[in-house]
Amino acid sequence: APAWRQLYSTEEKSDLERRPPVVTILGHVDHGKTSLLDKIRQTNVQEGEAGGITQHIGAYQVEHDNRVVTFLDTPGHEAFTAMRSRGAAGADIAVLVVAADDGVMPTTREALAHARAAGVPIVVALNKIDRNNANPEYVKQQLAEELDLRSDEWGGDTLVVPVSAKTGDGIEDLIEAILLVADDTEILANPNTKAAGTVLEGRMEQGRGPVATLLVQNGTLHTGDIVIAGTSHGRIKAMFDEKGKTVKEAKPSQPVSVMGLDDPPHAGDMFEVVKDIKVARSTTEMRQFEQDQAEIQPAVAFTLEDAFERFQAGETKELLLVIKVDVDGSLEPVVQSVEHIEVADFNVRVLHAGVGNISEDDVNLANASGAIIIGFNVHADTAAARTAESLGVDIRSYNIIYKLIESVELALKGLLEPEYADRTIGVAEVRALFRVPRVGNIAGSYVLDGTIRRNSKA
Ligand code: GDP
Repeated sequence: APAWRQLYSTEEKSDLERRPPVVTILGHVDHGKTSLLDKIRQTNVQEGEAGGITQHIGAYQVEHDNRVVTFLDTPGHEAFTAMRSRGAAGADIAVLVVAADDGVMPTTREALAHARAAGVPIVVALNKIDRNNANPEYVKQQLAEELDLRSDEWGGDTLVVPVSAKTGDGIEDLIEAILLVADDTEILANPNTKAAGTVLEGRMEQGRGPVATLLVQNGTLHTGDIVIAGTSHGRIKAMFDEKGKTVKEAKPSQPVSVMGLDDPPHAGDMFEVVKDIKVARSTTEMRQFEQDQAEIQPAVAFTLEDAFERFQAGETKELLLVIKVDVDGSLEPVVQSVEHIEVADFNVRVLHAGVGNISEDDVNLANASGAIIIGFNVHADTAAARTAESLGVDIRSYNIIYKLIESVELALKGLLEPEYADRTIGVAEVRALFRVPRVGNIAGSYVLDGTIRRNSKA
């Protein structure tokens, strides 16, 4: 299993236990993400609690055959990717909703790219099967041919579950499919340690002050714990589950809303429990300071030219690309040719490829995954260009295929000539000079700012 599903890799293996899977729901607009989340919640409310006031706190848990599943209830890949770009792991499993009367749409493709970029296993919910014009067989074929999501009935390894968020048909099967996938994936945590996890929501509430929903991902959270969440901190005064019931503790994969922080944290911030309130205060002050500094400086771009340096530094062995082309006919040739490029041990992986201008969504995907965007006969729309600039995402446009391939090849070899003027990536002060025969002069230097990389010019 990918290491990140055991989020806290410092834990000893023997301390790890299975935790409920955390599931996110993705898919094209109007295909029924929200309806599905509501229906799952309604049909799985525990007995005796029906009629209780449920609150949307960013996630909820359901029980099925004595097993628990956590659903994030902000649907859509935007939330999921925002979390990833802040370093948080969004979910363990993604449910891709595809309406059986509408089929694969552009956002279906995008959502899948986001889930695949995150390395999350995917379950398909074929929704709206109650509709007269639903054509599940056709959509299954589309999924297989266009998205390489082959249904298990056809010998593939994707569970494709027909459901109706309207009638409730298939909802139990969907939860069962999620649990089957969870069985195949080691979804682990150590429940017996200080809690850590991700902030799902933060807001000010009248009479309550700052309220945050925390998803515990490791350890157990208790009332009275001192928490640092992003740049906020405080001692937990009270905790509530999604039914508004007071709870004293929260285990891995459990969402709780908490009171007691000095400020509402941001969705996607990581949180952790610390022993000492003074440590909590000084840590958050430091973070606030760093954040203010970062706002003054523009984002450092990861450019195509940097790829080779990253390979050299051992940071990665893959160049990740998001590709946009003008017409359907160019998609295959462009993707195929770049995917075949391999130089030494380094290769290219296409996270997402589609037809149309470069959108803000493409930029967010590239940003969360450390990818570069390549446009073929297309350009970035205004919002995308602005976001790319502020996040430091590199966008390259080409209109001749061989030029595109050549650039990528040269980048992998470290031979790509920069398109731009020199860029200062770091500043150092020379403190001492050493003269070494036959080698030359060596400058003992002290880095004052930025990074000094091997192969950089000075
Ligand atoms: P979202 O944009 O993906 O969150 O989609 P919504 O949940 O808002 O659903 C879009 C529309 O489809 C709404 O009018 C829903 O009532 C309808 N809808 C959702 N699921 C089903 C279903 O299974 N059957 C039918 N007939 N309609 C559905």
